Amino acid sequence: MIKGGILFPIWYDDIFLKHFMGKDHFEAPWRLTKIIESLEENNFPFILKKVTPTTPEIIAETHSARLIEQLKHLSEKGGGNLGLDIIANQFTYDAALAASGATIQASNAAFTTGLPTAAMVRPPGHHASSDLSMGFCFFNNIAIAANELLKDDPSLKIMIVDIDNHYGNGTAEIFYDNPQVLYYSLHSSPKISYPGSGYPDEVGIGKGTGFNISIPLPAFINDQTYLEVFDKTFPLFMKQFKPDIVLVSYGVDTLSRDPYGLMDLSLEIYPLLGERILNVALEVIGKPRIAIILEGGYHPYNMGLAVTAFLSAFLPAYGLKIPAVFEKGIQEGFYGTTADEILEPVQEAHKNYWKW
Ligand SMILES: [Zn+2]
Repeated sequence: MIKGGILFPIWYDDIFLKHFMGKDHFEAPWRLTKIIESLEENNFPFILKKVTPTTPEIIAETHSARLIEQLKHLSEKGGGNLGLDIIANQFTYDAALAASGATIQASNAAFTTGLPTAAMVRPPGHHASSDLSMGFCFFNNIAIAANELLKDDPSLKIMIVDIDNHYGNGTAEIFYDNPQVLYYSLHSSPKISYPGSGYPDEVGIGKGTGFNISIPLPAFINDQTYLEVFDKTFPLFMKQFKPDIVLVSYGVDTLSRDPYGLMDLSLEIYPLLGERILNVALEVIGKPRIAIILEGGYHPYNMGLAVTAFLSAFLPAYGLKIPAVFEKGIQEGFYGTTADEILEPVQEAHKNYWKW
């Protein structure tokens, strides 16, 4: 552990505010402005780090040339639609290169320093598959960063923890046959939620079989049940997989009343989730090599606070104190479905691959 005086590093660039999908669209620049404002208002001890945009050549190690060219071309001609929910303007290509660059930098820094880092980026990434931009996501930032780490050390094991409200179908697809990247996702059930995939039997393919952990959750799951599901699975996979680094796809659209989310989590759960990730990483890796990458989250009032609350949990790794405002407990209460009932099909799908 490092003593106080060091600030929590966050990779961020104003180019992220220039990507705009149109008036009334919730994946909007104010999301990042709210986060930075909340960090400042709550005296979160952070430093913004300068972003180096990545190159199309590096993106091409994860995505098809067609997907990259398509966005470049669209931005060059001033913007346009790639689909209903994926709209570019003249800045989107540059913002997407910078978002991937920031994610690579945060991941590399977490790996080399052995300390938690974050990248607060737009556009988000986890729905973008190798050949398809979708769900507000153009390039898959976290997958690109994971591939960069693997390029430096092909024997590395990476765990991607996706706690956005939605299944990261893009990340899952990119590493579906790869046993070195364990994709673990808690998300709203595909029966009721975008992107319509993320069933328990999506376990991976070929050598990657068993390395895609998809845990769908029923609508309006509460803090207590969510934490129970997390506690019964996250340490289990971490301890058996033994990753060298944890990359977190962090979405706060799990927050109660998020316009795109279907969960009922309160602000109080986020420091507890962060604390668990920090402690299990310390136990398994020996040091908190954790990079936190922003995905979704669209709550107009509370998304900044939810991010601040989650990041606060990682401050003890820097010898810094968690602001007292986030030291509350969760709201407990009865929820119709138990954690064991939720996990039954997941356990069944993975019974041959992991010890439960
Ligand atoms: Zn989401």
